[in-house]
Amino acid sequence: MSSAGSAGGNRAARVSSQLDDLGVDVLLVHGAANRRYLSGFTGSAGVLLIGSERRVLVTDFRYTVQAREQAPAFDVVEAAEPLDGLADAVAAAGATRVGFEPEHVTYAGFQKLEARLGELTPAAGLAPVDRVVERQRVTKDPGETAILREAVSIADQVMARAAAWIEPGVTERALANRLEAAMRDLGAEGPAFDTIVAAGPNAAMAHHQPGNHRIAQGEPVIVDLGARLKGYCSDITRTFVAGAADETFRRIYALVLDAQLAAEAGIRAGISGRAADALARDPIAAAGHGNDFGHGTGHGVGLEIHESPRLSTRSEDTLAAGMVTSVEPGIYIPEWGGVRIEDLVLVQDDGVEVLTQAPK
Ligand code: ZN
Ligand code: ZN
Repeated sequence: MSSAGSAGGNRAARVSSQLDDLGVDVLLVHGAANRRYLSGFTGSAGVLLIGSERRVLVTDFRYTVQAREQAPAFDVVEAAEPLDGLADAVAAAGATRVGFEPEHVTYAGFQKLEARLGELTPAAGLAPVDRVVERQRVTKDPGETAILREAVSIADQVMARAAAWIEPGVTERALANRLEAAMRDLGAEGPAFDTIVAAGPNAAMAHHQPGNHRIAQGEPVIVDLGARLKGYCSDITRTFVAGAADETFRRIYALVLDAQLAAEAGIRAGISGRAADALARDPIAAAGHGNDFGHGTGHGVGLEIHESPRLSTRSEDTLAAGMVTSVEPGIYIPEWGGVRIEDLVLVQDDGVEVLTQAPK
């Protein structure tokens, strides 16, 4: 399975094999999730250099011991000044064309790196390389899928507690705090993102911050949470009602659930992110609530909570087997509230496996 080390070696080898096509001698990996994915190293500071054969992790003294343990496929270089360590690694690799991740390097960092590499003999130049590691991360290997299943299972168990703990008088914030504590009790490293509890009119805001609002009888309550486990994120939303549901709630809930189930029934490898989005969006629009569904139907999850693919009206992605994505349509009505239902699914050739097991 995915001992970080062996997975790290194979994953880095895939990057190595693309360097020629990318037109660079080495790739510098600054992105934290990409660094962890390729090497297994979980520290907060460090840069990878991936060459056709060379694999170097430049970090500082705080992390050297940890890096050698976690990233056995990499030569760990301790550098008091990371820029010097990187320049030395580039020179040792004989590289003059150095790829970097433009999305993960600040402009100031780029300027310093460019100046430093320009001083080498021969001088090395920088070339932006677009999302090469992210493209690899989008389909999950069996080791990653196994971890995601565990993270989903924790989220399912926490959501069962939410169902039991929602009652009139409880504040959004108190419930969110309790849910996050439950996650840790169940073995999560922590929440994958700030837990959302949005009750009554607050549920009309897709990303409401839990506050002092007290849940009242008959209000819709959106709970959106995820557990982080071994770096990987889960993501689930359920919508509850405290006490008896009124006619509006029953109608909106049924509509969102139908749309969510239609998307899960229709998604499979080969369809576009736009077509997947439309599976949920069309029935909601047909019922006259198209303008009340203002976000995308889904997003990939993995080491980051929002990854490719995107399931939205503007998506450029095509779904493939092994991708793990959320399916989360919602309807939000100002002053009344909202309903969102979200599962994680594993895309397969002929459909999806719904990973989320919590009742809906
Ligand atoms: Zn969510
Ligand atoms: Zn989500």
